[in-house]
Amino acid sequence: MGTANAVDRLHYRRWCPVSRRINRVATVSVHTSPLDQPGTGDAGGMNVYIVEVARRLAARGIEVDIFTRATSRALPPVAELAPGVLVRHVVSGPFEELDKGELPRHLCGFTSGVLRAEAAHEPGHYDVLHTHYWLSGQAGWAAKRRWGVPLVHSMHTMAKVKNSALADGDKPEPDERVLGEEQVVASADQLVANTAEEARDLIGLYGADPARVATASPGVDLSRFRPESPLLARSTGLLPHRTGPARRRLGLPREAYVLLFVGRIQPLKAPDVLLRAAARMIADDPSLGSRLVVAVVGGPSGSGRCRPEGLQALAAELGIADVVRFEPPSPQPVLADWYRAADVTVVPSHSESFGLVAVESQACGTPVVAARVGGLRTAVADGESGMLVPGHDPAAYAAVLRRLHAEPGLHARLARGAVRHAQGFGWDATVDRLVEVYTGAMSLPAARPAPPLLTPPLTAAEVTA
Ligand code: UDP
Repeated sequence: MGTANAVDRLHYRRWCPVSRRINRVATVSVHTSPLDQPGTGDAGGMNVYIVEVARRLAARGIEVDIFTRATSRALPPVAELAPGVLVRHVVSGPFEELDKGELPRHLCGFTSGVLRAEAAHEPGHYDVLHTHYWLSGQAGWAAKRRWGVPLVHSMHTMAKVKNSALADGDKPEPDERVLGEEQVVASADQLVANTAEEARDLIGLYGADPARVATASPGVDLSRFRPESPLLARSTGLLPHRTGPARRRLGLPREAYVLLFVGRIQPLKAPDVLLRAAARMIADDPSLGSRLVVAVVGGPSGSGRCRPEGLQALAAELGIADVVRFEPPSPQPVLADWYRAADVTVVPSHSESFGLVAVESQACGTPVVAARVGGLRTAVADGESGMLVPGHDPAAYAAVLRRLHAEPGLHARLARGAVRHAQGFGWDATVDRLVEVYTGAMSLPAARPAPPLLTPPLTAAEVTA
């Protein structure tokens, strides 16, 4: 692909802002692959988001190519994730998982790989570029300039927001990330925020142009995450989550009071708060000791106390080792069983841009007790589908969980409210909104790219090399 060609296309796209049909989207996810199992390492809600959106775009006839870094020599250059969705493994840096802090120095090679893959196609192959997380946005703004397509960017998390709510033992996000994010915000044609609050942070903390910020709520697969036997519950008045097959499949007794944590085990998600709250509940009511089960589903993504071994040690220290059940990162059908079997899902995170786990749990009819932070304030309707707790004091969580245990009427009301609330978050609605955003971005004058900080634009020789 020659530079002159790219500039011509850039002009064409800028000056012919007709409302064209979207045929193909290039999605970039540098640091984590859509093929990874979410719930451990760097794989979480963003991976789920990318996969669910890509599948649904493809079902609407919009092909999606997802570019990610190759972390193993064994990976094929291209893998089909679903009909119409390809994962393109770009070789840059060593064939191994790298810490996110090491990735900026491999971005130039990654960007070059993305551009080379596109150069194999006819000009105008992609209509829109959607990048996820700031590292991908860095690769994206260079690609946007070459291809003359709009850059749509989703932050997923923001360093300035994370740094304002650090958990004990969490390292602040480095200045390099803050600068990199500011640059991506300045050069994106459209920014997609998960919630109105995230949109406000983009504008207030990062100086984003309000006209370029759109909100698209993430979703939940409502066909996979649904309550157990609602008919049985209605006809018998029994608590369906206690009597249904999910508990049998997971080996949980009917009489157990099950508190569930799902997600990556890291200080930011604060699973330790749940353990401390459980210990307090048992201390206050020792009869609960034989019935309480705390299930922690997910793998490590951090250090110290918040690795599974650290949590096991904490459980032993608190005298509740026999109450806590650790489960490995699980595929979503198994997760759905966990949500259905639980009495309450607890999400005590210090910061959360949305919180897919909270919505998945509610879609399964299980109320959520969550920290009153970030996107959880949208994901959970306080007092209707769950309870929001200010701060991270385990005593406050214990008090709310005790109340839900003691008041079955309240629990049942929240369970019904949870299912209702989750219906507002289907992925199809997310994709409807994204298609609007893409279409709008294709007819906007291009944002001026900010001066390069981390990935200098490639020379024509590098691109065609
Ligand atoms: N997840 C999973 N298996 C696990 C744990 C988590 O598939 O064992 C998925 C979960 O279904 C959810 C995502 O990981 O969709 C976590 O997203 P969330 O927004 O809650 O947190 P994030 O990882 O983005 O911080």
